[in-house]
Amino acid sequence: MHPALARLRTRLGPAGWLDQPAAMAPYLEESRARHHGAALAVVRPADTAAVAAVLAACHEAGVGMVPQGGNTGRCAGALPTAGQLVLSLARLDRIRAVDALDGSLTAEAGCILADVQAAARAHGRLFPLSLGAEGSCTIGGNLATNAGGLNVLRYGSARALCLGLEVVLADGRVWDGLRRLRKDNTGYDLRDLFIGSEGTLGVITAAVLRLFPLPERRATALAALADLDACLALLARARHASADTLTSFELLPRIGLDAAVRHVPGCRDPFDVAHAWCVLLELDGAGDAPAARLEALLADALAAGEIVDAATAASEAQAAALWRLREGLVEAQRHEGASIKHDVAVPVSRVPEFIRQASAACTALLPGVRPYPFGHVGDGNVHFNLSQPPGMAAADFLACWGRCERVVHDLVAACGGSFSAEHGVGRSKTGEMARYKSPLELELMRGIKRTLDPRGILNPGAVLPPG
Ligand SMILES: Cc1cc2nc3c(=O)[nH]c(=O)nc-3n(C[C@H](O)[C@H](O)[C@H](O)COP(=O)(O)OP(=O)(O)OC[C@H]3O[C@@H](n4cnc5c(N)ncnc54)[C@H](O)[C@@H]3O)c2cc1C
Repeated sequence: MHPALARLRTRLGPAGWLDQPAAMAPYLEESRARHHGAALAVVRPADTAAVAAVLAACHEAGVGMVPQGGNTGRCAGALPTAGQLVLSLARLDRIRAVDALDGSLTAEAGCILADVQAAARAHGRLFPLSLGAEGSCTIGGNLATNAGGLNVLRYGSARALCLGLEVVLADGRVWDGLRRLRKDNTGYDLRDLFIGSEGTLGVITAAVLRLFPLPERRATALAALADLDACLALLARARHASADTLTSFELLPRIGLDAAVRHVPGCRDPFDVAHAWCVLLELDGAGDAPAARLEALLADALAAGEIVDAATAASEAQAAALWRLREGLVEAQRHEGASIKHDVAVPVSRVPEFIRQASAACTALLPGVRPYPFGHVGDGNVHFNLSQPPGMAAADFLACWGRCERVVHDLVAACGGSFSAEHGVGRSKTGEMARYKSPLELELMRGIKRTLDPRGILNPGAVLPPG
C-alpha cells in the first residue's frame, strides 16, 4: 500500500476504514443490483477535515476515489473499480443551522433527504425536494446528481434549491462557498459547476439549502384524459388556473395502473372505466384556495373535453391513496417481468408525440414489447420504460437493451431532448455522452475536469467518455 494511504488508514481508524469483503459489500452494489463494483477499501470520514485528508492522500498516491452518499443512484455513478477507494459521506450527517428568516438550512452532505425535510418542517418551513428514494438518498448525492423528483414543476430541481456549497477539491483543499445569498453576481458560478458533476470535480461536504413557506393545504386529484394529447391542454390550464401553484403533474398509463392494482397492496383504480391515460395533479396554497381552484379547473377541463372523468381527494388519506397508485406503478413493473428503462426529457409540448413515436419504434424492433411510459410530464421528463414481451425469456429481452436505447435516445435527440433527465450519466451513460454531446461541449467539459482534477482521481470513468 502507498505510504500516504497507510497513514490515512491510521488516521481514520477502524470506524473510518473498511477493507473486509463483508463490510465493503453494501457499498459495492447499486440499489438496482444491475452493477457490481470492487474497491481497495471503503473510507468513512466523520467531518470535512477528514474528507480533506482522504483527498490529499488519494492525490499524493494517485489513487482513484469514488464519492458515495445513499448509493441510490441509477447509473453506476457511485461504483468503484478494483484499486479505488469508496468515500462514503454517511457520517457527515449533521444539520449545522436552520435560519427561518433567511429561509435557509445548512446540512452536511451525508444527511438523509427525509431528515432534511423533517428539520425544515420542525421550523415551520418546507424543503420541497421529494423523490422515491428520500428515505435513503443524501443531500450530497442529490446535489451531485442535480436530482429532480416530484415537485420540480413548482420549486425546481436540486440546483434551484441550493444557495451555497462547501467542497473538498481534488488536492484536499476546502472551498468554503457556504453563502446564504439570493443574489451574488461576482464572477463564475462555482457552485453551479459542482452541482450535477457527479463527484467528478470535487466532493460536496455541506450545502446551504433554500426553504419555503410550509403550504397550509394541498389539493390532489386523478384526472382521466380524453387522450394523450390532452395532457398538454390540461397542464397549461392547471398552471394558469392555479396561479402556478401546481406542484405535481404526473402521467400514469393504463398498463401501469393495471399493474399497480394487480400487484401492489392498497392500490385501487378510482374509476369504473379503464381509461387509457390518467394524470395525477396536485396544487398547494392557503385556506380553501387549492381545493376550490382544483375543482374549478377540473370542471372547465371536463367541459372543454380535455378530461372525461376526475377523482378528487377529499381527505389526506384519499390523497395518499392516489399517490400510492403513482408510486405503486413503479414498484409493480418488477412483477411484470424484466424492464428496460430510459429516463429522458423532451420539450413539454413534444411529450405525446415522443411517447407515440418511441412506442411504435420499440414495438417494431421488438414485437410484443409493452411500453410503460410514465413520470414527471409537467417537466417533460418521461420514464420511458419497456416491459418484457409475454413469452420471451428475460435474458433475451435484456440483451436488447442497447438496441432499444439507441432507438429511444435517437428519437429523444430528434425532439431536442436529453438522454438523461434527472438520473445523471454515471458510468452507464458515458457512451451516450460521446454520441449526443457536441465535440465542443465535450472539449469544454474536459477542460474543466483537467483544471479541477489534474490527476484524474475524482470518480474516474464517470460522466466523461474516454478520449
Ligand atoms: C426508488 C428510487 C426513486 C428515485 N427517484 C428519483 C427521482 O424521482 N428523481 C431523481 O432525480 N432521482 C431519483 N432516483 C435516483 C437517486 O435517488 C438520486 O439520484 C439521488 O439524488 C442520489 O443520491 P445518493 O445519496 O443515493 O447518491 P449516490 O447514489 O450515492 O451517488 C450518486 C452520484 O453522486 C456522487 N456523489 C454522492 N455523494 C456525493 C458528494 N457528497 N459529493 C460529490 N459527489 C457525490 C456519486 O459519486 C455518484 O456519482 C431514485 C432512486 C430510487 C432508488
